[in-house]
Amino acid sequence: MKGKDYKACLLLGGNMNDVQSTFVQVLAQMEEFSDVLKASGLYKTKAWGMEEGTPDFINQAVIVGTPLKPEALLSKLQQIELDFGRVRKNGDDYESRTIDIDIIFFEDYIIRSEILTIPHPRMQERNFVLVPLVEIAENWKHPVLGKSVKQILEESIDSLEVIAVDES
Ligand code: AMP
Repeated sequence: MKGKDYKACLLLGGNMNDVQSTFVQVLAQMEEFSDVLKASGLYKTKAWGMEEGTPDFINQAVIVGTPLKPEALLSKLQQIELDFGRVRKNGDDYESRTIDIDIIFFEDYIIRSEILTIPHPRMQERNFVLVPLVEIAENWKHPVLGKSVKQILEESIDSLEVIAVDES
């Protein structure tokens, strides 16, 4: 990729059955405007407090290099969310599915605009963000808290269990 590449940490999330294969396709689509430099394994979190039968949530953290500025990156990611948010099933019927892509960090930028808050405002409260992130970015320093991802996870009081998914 030509020109300056910014580095950003993203979190993919979803809770439908074939999340794993959707993530593979999402990452392939991201390659059109970024280089996926690192990707964590997949982690699952029980959908506590939600309707019975709600599938586990799956998350994966990635680091991308991209020439896009934050707002432009968000716009591309939202387009992917739209593309994968509806999946063709039985011909013309569509089944909705959740694919969420959050920007957790963008370099050491601090952004608080109408459409974008970076670092992601609730990342430090959520083990399902911190556990995948620590695998690939343990030393990334949170520009507001002044702490590394590893340190934030160690201090986390979130009791949600985040379990590595066996991808074999
Ligand atoms: P969600 O329902 O979690 O997909 O939230 C989407 C909304 O969050 C969009 O309107 C975005 O503009 C906004 N947003 C704010 N900060 C961020 C961020 N760091 N990453 C992704 N979306 C963000």
